[in-house]
Amino acid sequence: MSFESLNLIEPIQKALAEEGYTTPTPIQAQAIPIILQGTDLLGVAQTGTGKTAAFAIPTIQLLHKNHTFHKGKRSIKALIVTPTRELAIQIDDSFKAYGKYTGLTHTVIFGGVKQGRQTDALQNGVDVLVATPGRLLDLINQRFISLKDIQIFILDEADRMLDMGFVHDIKKLLAILPPRRQSLFFSATMPPEIQKLSDSILYKPQKVEV
Ligand code: AMP
Repeated sequence: MSFESLNLIEPIQKALAEEGYTTPTPIQAQAIPIILQGTDLLGVAQTGTGKTAAFAIPTIQLLHKNHTFHKGKRSIKALIVTPTRELAIQIDDSFKAYGKYTGLTHTVIFGGVKQGRQTDALQNGVDVLVATPGRLLDLINQRFISLKDIQIFILDEADRMLDMGFVHDIKKLLAILPPRRQSLFFSATMPPEIQKLSDSILYKPQKVEV
């Protein structure tokens, strides 16, 4: 199996070649075609399996194919929520690397630092936002962020999110996300509480377990 057989657009193929990626990992081989179809996905996978590229690559391709990048002021069309600052930065770096030839813009927000630089980046308009839950809700409440144009919502490391006490924040977020959207849900484990959360987010999902 190669990346060529996944029908990826040229700008992504070029970026992956530069990263030195030749073969998709199992989660990538399974998840990318499902996501490109527009189907919701439940991914049971740990960090280190290549799950970031498994959701970032098709997200970039879907937004690119919808020609949503160059129409007027940019608005956030894909939102990725992850529990820690380190993960948020890694995910943002992945969008930068895989999307470098597509013209998509992206930024990352997290707590524990002053918000000024983050809000400046948001004011310019971005296509993809990577966020930790607390800062995200904070900037939504301050009206720096609107979720009205979200097409793709990704919840990363859901089990860790719960362990860290973010469940209330996630529920608040779900109440303001557009109901018509594609959702991707990733967790390393699936205890009943996480299954319940995924049921509340996903619509007719396909499950991929690695
Ligand atoms: P992740 O599980 O998303 O944290 O990714 C783990 C590491 O694998 C990251 O350093 C990626 O850059 C790398 N990686 C992801 N997909 C591939 C691939 N198809 N080929 C080679 N390396 C990869």
